[in-house]
Amino acid sequence: MATLSLDQVGKVYDNGVEAVKKLDITVGDGEFVVLVGPSGCGKTTVLRMVAGLEEITSGTLRLDGNPANDLSPRERDVAMVFQNYALYPHMSVHQNIAFSLSMRRVPKDERDRKVREAAELLGLSELLESKPRHLSGGQRQRVAMGRALVRDPAVFLMDEPLSNLDAKLRVQMRTEVLRVQRRLGVATLYVTHDQTEAMTMGDRVAVMREGVLNQLDPPQALYDRPANVFVAAFMGSPSMNLYEGSVAGSPDSPVVSLGSQQLTLSSAFGHARSDLLGGGGREVIVGIRPEHLTIAAGANGEEQRTGQSLVGDVELVEALGNELLVHFMTDAPAVRGEAQGWLETEAADGLAVRRAGAATPGVARVDPRISVASGERVRFAVDVDRLHFFDPDSGAALGQEQHGRS
Ligand code: ADP
Ligand code: MG
Repeated sequence: MATLSLDQVGKVYDNGVEAVKKLDITVGDGEFVVLVGPSGCGKTTVLRMVAGLEEITSGTLRLDGNPANDLSPRERDVAMVFQNYALYPHMSVHQNIAFSLSMRRVPKDERDRKVREAAELLGLSELLESKPRHLSGGQRQRVAMGRALVRDPAVFLMDEPLSNLDAKLRVQMRTEVLRVQRRLGVATLYVTHDQTEAMTMGDRVAVMREGVLNQLDPPQALYDRPANVFVAAFMGSPSMNLYEGSVAGSPDSPVVSLGSQQLTLSSAFGHARSDLLGGGGREVIVGIRPEHLTIAAGANGEEQRTGQSLVGDVELVEALGNELLVHFMTDAPAVRGEAQGWLETEAADGLAVRRAGAATPGVARVDPRISVASGERVRFAVDVDRLHFFDPDSGAALGQEQHGRS
């Protein structure tokens, strides 16, 4: 039984940088929590504070319920796997894994037993006498994990352990890391800047931005009900389409305007969200996930109902086999002002880069058998029940728990 909790934890470095602000995170027994956020948001600082490698400026760290701020790294019983794991090149895999045990003068029999157990769990049994230079990247990463495993830590800390591996191996190692963690049932705090890794690995995911925790939830909840524009844009690839708009109309026929384009919402929505419609409606940031834009057969025809569609000019079509990513430009207004700042740190999508000018980019994820080409003007059908609304000033989600079908 081991749990980890951070209660209002803050870190100010000697140079005045406030890297972490009032952070609350718990990792339950056996739980896998992923801490994700853009580079520089404070993730490594959090792990180093938990490991005891960095002093905690404010707040309380608890391990198994006991205050641990003042414990030495050794007393904390946590093991950390670093991004830049360094194996000792002149030592065998066995010696590398056994290193911390040797340092602690663990008797040879016990040492050997633990190394063999770890090696078996990690699929390294055949390689125990090999030197690191003869190992593949994935095998080296496993050795680095083995070094942490043999210590039987109460808590695992991992700082972007897969980021030095190539894409394919990274995907494979995600499963491996999870498998090992499940077998051992050790509370784990895992850091990554990769939102896909976070989504696929975490029991729960903590999204950080500029030292502040923005949301801590199971992956699907983060995706379906992002707490603010930043989380909405950061989680999901391609990113959520975000436009400036307004909501108005009566509860029976609510309308969302995106510049010159209008989407009619259901009366069910209108009645559930009369808060948005009160006082003649309000300005909002409207979010549309790429999979909630579709191209209906005959969608380009003039007979198409205009109430639920967004018109865009296709710039580029990416065929991924299982889906098409249709990149388009639309006259729906781009998010401006302060809210833009929340989007600049979004996961790099390459193509979805926001540009100046009248046209605003968007992307739709559609059926691969749809025929669509660049240069075409398309009416994308919008799943209006799945729209997200955010406050343009604070970026906070506007009461979506009331209309999200989860
Ligand atoms: P991440 O791991 O999310 O990329 P870090 O925790 O490494 O972020 O850094 C968070 C912030 O703290 C950054 O602004 C970084 O420049 C700053 N920082 C990190 N380490 C130190 C340090 N030892 N001294 C001063 N500032 C630091
Ligand atoms: Mg880091």
